[in-house]
Amino acid sequence: MASWIVLQGVTLPVPARADGAGNSMSYSELLKKLDDNQVESIELDPTRKVARVKLKAPAQKKPGQVLEVPLLEENPELIAKAREKVDSANLRFDIQPTPDNSAAASLLANLLLIFLLIAGLLMILRRSTSGPGQAMSFGKSRARFQMEAKTGVMFEDVAGIEEAKEELQEVVTFLKKPERFTAVGAKIPKGVLLVGPPGTGKTLLAKAIAGEAGVPFFSISGSEFVEMFVGVGASRVRDLFRKAKENAPCIIFIDEIDAVGRQRGAGIGGGNDEREQTLNQLLTEMDGFEGNTGIIIIAATNRPDVLDTALLRPGRFDRQVMVDLPTFKGRLKILEVHARNKKLASEVSLDAVARRTPGFSGADLANLLNEAAILTARRRKEAITPLEIDDALDRLTIGLKLAPRMDGKVKWMTAYHEVGHALVATMLKHADPVDKVTIIPRSGGIEGFTSFLPDEERVDSEGLLSRALLLDRITVGLGGRATEAEVYGQNEIDAGATDDIKKVTDLARKMVTLYGMSDLGTLALENPNSEIFLGRGWLDRAAEYSEEIAARIDRQVRTIVVHCYEDACRIIQDNRALVDRLVELLLEQETIDGDEFRRIVAESTQQKFHTEVSEHPSAVRA
Ligand code: ADP
Ligand code: MG
Ligand code: ZN
Repeated sequence: MASWIVLQGVTLPVPARADGAGNSMSYSELLKKLDDNQVESIELDPTRKVARVKLKAPAQKKPGQVLEVPLLEENPELIAKAREKVDSANLRFDIQPTPDNSAAASLLANLLLIFLLIAGLLMILRRSTSGPGQAMSFGKSRARFQMEAKTGVMFEDVAGIEEAKEELQEVVTFLKKPERFTAVGAKIPKGVLLVGPPGTGKTLLAKAIAGEAGVPFFSISGSEFVEMFVGVGASRVRDLFRKAKENAPCIIFIDEIDAVGRQRGAGIGGGNDEREQTLNQLLTEMDGFEGNTGIIIIAATNRPDVLDTALLRPGRFDRQVMVDLPTFKGRLKILEVHARNKKLASEVSLDAVARRTPGFSGADLANLLNEAAILTARRRKEAITPLEIDDALDRLTIGLKLAPRMDGKVKWMTAYHEVGHALVATMLKHADPVDKVTIIPRSGGIEGFTSFLPDEERVDSEGLLSRALLLDRITVGLGGRATEAEVYGQNEIDAGATDDIKKVTDLARKMVTLYGMSDLGTLALENPNSEIFLGRGWLDRAAEYSEEIAARIDRQVRTIVVHCYEDACRIIQDNRALVDRLVELLLEQETIDGDEFRRIVAESTQQKFHTEVSEHPSAVRA
């Protein structure tokens, strides 16, 4: 407001200068004319600071002429004189702030200013509240869902998840030819739940359904439903369904539905009222429209286990489609899809890439090819070569490649550590084959690493993790530390193996508590999903075993790890000369690939490639 006052001063009218010699007169002249009794009337206008003067007939040049006389700030002399003449010389004297234009203009300017100020203030208020809270807009929810009239995605853009595609092909037919189903009295399903880990193509699949059927695609993410103020989430749901009904047939896609659809009345802190209201609204809306209106709701989640059972019952999301991580064949197809618009050198074998990427999701694979393309452009090459794919893969899985280290203690110790892992892995029958060993440092403090080529079938299917395989994995994991201890002695080992040790311990613990692979017998002693999530099972997660069992678990885990460590040490001791030779080679060329590594090991051990080092019989006997 202070600025307004200052500005008002500025916009006040400046005293109007009387212009043109014809109808103006100076102040002193006026005083003189008054003395001479030649003035007929004076009208003072304090706003414009002028006096309008009419002279008497002889002095007047034109009849009826009004002269303007510029005034001073105060005019006591003029006023005193005029008053005197009013009585003595019949002067008409008047003070009249005329409704004059400039005054009106200044008033308008001031009003405009106030208006602008208020508008500005409102805008600032708005801005500050439209952040996370939306405090000013609880009324009508601004629709935060997106609508795409045409997604442009087709089934052929989605690869590697054939079963899911087949199941959803039917949904396309529902949308395109509903008569075929309604004619025989079949109810069209309302909801389809896509279940699978992130990046496997759930969103893409939902878009492809809309694309194939040629219907609009409404999408909203579950977390957007739940807002700070009570009622907004629910009104979003109403909005969304109203819009969708206007555009039927169409697809409504709700991403991350677990954000709204969690088990009601559960969770730490007594649940979330707002979320429950939103969920209730969603359920009501789903019940409110008949399956035959042509709206199909597709929801995606990676945790179907936390969803409210009410969502899953018939008439709601009664169809569940698994969208899993792709298998080798699937990965190959996904790679082919994403290689369509990229230039690949003829030496690139997508087959080999697919083989080396078990556990990758569709999004990971898309990202891999994109990274490779970026590297290619950076290196100013014509097409993506296997080298770029290799580098991109390492970068995504391990970290950014840094400049090789200068020779020194760190490099030496790293070389021994990694050769230790790789040699133990090569000598053990059930261990995964080595992909490569490298001592080129990576971002994130990684000095070197040994990568393996896991068997396709073993990835993600715990059923194939045999006891022998797990024990070998533990032994390989300890190979690095075992080598350090053998070569440098117990006093020189460093903390570099922390990560190895943690992984090994976790694995051993799982063998005892989950897989029933120890003397403790086939007891599930721990929950496979030991993480606590808010939905369920906070209270029933109390210890499932006694103190005594706990001590026995610890003993078993220790026994497994100690035995595996001894095995690793023995392998290194028996092949000390070979270790030194491999380390020398690794220091020289910084990377040894799996085949070369195996060749050298085979040469030196005279083809006894997989030595039966240990039967591990003692490993599980406490
Ligand atoms: P989700 O929704 O399951 O987390 P998205 O559908 O968002 O995964 O996938 C992200 C991206 O990854 C897609 O845009 C696509 O480029 C790629 N992608 C994922 N899965 C596939 C697949 N099966 N086929 C082709 N591309 C895929
Ligand atoms: Mg998604
Ligand atoms: Zn290691």
